[in-house]
Amino acid sequence: RTVYVNGEYLPEHEAKVSIFDRAFLMADGVYEVTSVLDGKLIDFDGHAKRLQRSLDELDMKSPVTMDELLEIHRELVRVNEIDEGLVYLQVTRGAPADRDFVFPDPETTEPTLVLFTQSKPGLADSPAAKRGMKVISIEDQRWGRRDIKTVQLLYPSMGKMMAKKAGADDAWMVEDGFVTEGTSNNAYIIKGNTIITRALSNDILHGITRAAVLRFAREAQMQVEERNYTIDEAKEADEAFITSASTFVMPVIEIDGTPVGEGTPGPRAARLREIYLEESRKAAI
Ligand code: PLP
Repeated sequence: RTVYVNGEYLPEHEAKVSIFDRAFLMADGVYEVTSVLDGKLIDFDGHAKRLQRSLDELDMKSPVTMDELLEIHRELVRVNEIDEGLVYLQVTRGAPADRDFVFPDPETTEPTLVLFTQSKPGLADSPAAKRGMKVISIEDQRWGRRDIKTVQLLYPSMGKMMAKKAGADDAWMVEDGFVTEGTSNNAYIIKGNTIITRALSNDILHGITRAAVLRFAREAQMQVEERNYTIDEAKEADEAFITSASTFVMPVIEIDGTPVGEGTPGPRAARLREIYLEESRKAAI
């Protein structure tokens, strides 16, 4: 695999970053994951805008322009012959001369930019989407700025392990009695013709897939309610699902061992997945 690091395209085993990089020592970095279908990027613009927002919130600079980022994405997709898969991008505050809590002077410390691809054949025609996934609920113990897409992913990683140990596929996190989101995705329930999902705030990541799916849902004459809901309300919903760049729309069929609806992927979630894939393929660049 060819990867990108600080201006160079290299075989992955030759790519190196400093042990003083602040992402390595302090999780001081942000990232994006953009999906690839038919060798093209899905919603690159959305991901580039959110990256810029994450950087701004942390007073960080991108080492390249968003146009250059697009070219790097395209070049990696091309050289690695990615038909279906993902492009991972990470910008960190760079590697100062020594470890220090205080941010280094941006005049002397350049940000680190790393990108790599992951080939995922069957991403769109996914068996998991036909099967549906099982989730457990766990306490949300992350920090308070979940709207910034940082590489600080230890708690989500622990959440996935708790799910795995419980024989489930993922965890939905709960704070003050209400669902925030999945460990790496936004969470939704459907009651009748209404999609319910938590409103945007610092409590959740502002999903790029979320924005697109809610737009398509409204266009398909579904109602959208952006509000809090409990795990109990979710268990009694007709359907449930998640969204993310790597799963698109994925039905949830069980919460804490309780089947949602019929306990099989629901028609509305399946339809939203179809619409999302169809529209995103058309708009891909
Ligand atoms: N919420 C969290 C915590 C995430 O990590 C992610 C994606 O990685 C999402 C939501 C979904 O965001 P997107 O649709 O932009 O991939």
